[in-house]
Amino acid sequence: MLQERGFRAVLTLESIAAGYGRITALKGISLEVSEGEIVAVLGANGAGKSTTLKCISGLVRPRSGRILFDGKRIDRTKPFRIARMGVVQCPEGRRLFANLTVRENLEMGAYARRDTRAVAADMRHMTSLFPTLGVRLKQKAGTLSGGEQQMLALARALMAAPRLLLLDEPSLGLAPILIEEIFQTLGRIRKEGVAILIVEQNAHVALEIADRGYVLETGNVVISGTAEGLRNDPRVVEAYLGGS
Ligand code: ATP
Repeated sequence: MLQERGFRAVLTLESIAAGYGRITALKGISLEVSEGEIVAVLGANGAGKSTTLKCISGLVRPRSGRILFDGKRIDRTKPFRIARMGVVQCPEGRRLFANLTVRENLEMGAYARRDTRAVAADMRHMTSLFPTLGVRLKQKAGTLSGGEQQMLALARALMAAPRLLLLDEPSLGLAPILIEEIFQTLGRIRKEGVAILIVEQNAHVALEIADRGYVLETGNVVISGTAEGLRNDPRVVEAYLGGS
């Protein structure tokens, strides 16, 4: 469908099954993210959202199916190589270096890059994209507020110059005003050509910004479509949008 509309797939998952020991977390899911798209994966606790991201970034090896990034298979590729190809995950829980400063955390995001000038330019760009961080470059990451930490995690992921950004629950634990700010920033990042796959329990905010979405239930994609289609789908409204 997307190819017909002239978009090029950056990421394709074909019938991915995955699990942990005897637990099957994904039962053969297929999804696609195209250039310049924000795609949301929705679902309740335990639906398999995080496992989907872990399969893409190479942390969990699928039991069957194929994952293609830019047309190349990556489902048997080591995580650091996948990251170098431009697939960057911004993990749930932020995982910042608490004892390092904001600036040092940002530098860590770019550690694998050799294009020093572009890194310096990106550093300046991050402080304009996230002005709150710009005035806190010397502050220890561990002393930032929850919202500031989430912004730093996002900025650090961007410092790796991703082609595809994987976001795990960016709204988790944040006040509505901060969620709004982070999602507006995601809109700007998309305009810069980064494709974004976002896993969210907060369907409201995810479907506001996404172009398309998939709903996962116990390891299966049960509904997929445009964000608008999902917002108006009675099953999504009832289960994920709280009837509003
Ligand atoms: P949440 O929103 O709660 O994070 P999720 O949709 O991201 O949920 P996953 O974390 O992908 O769900 O988990 C899918 C299933 O796999 C769940 O049943 C979970 O208990 C199981 N699972 C996840 N990680 C592991 C693990 N390391 N070992 C064993 N089982 C796991």
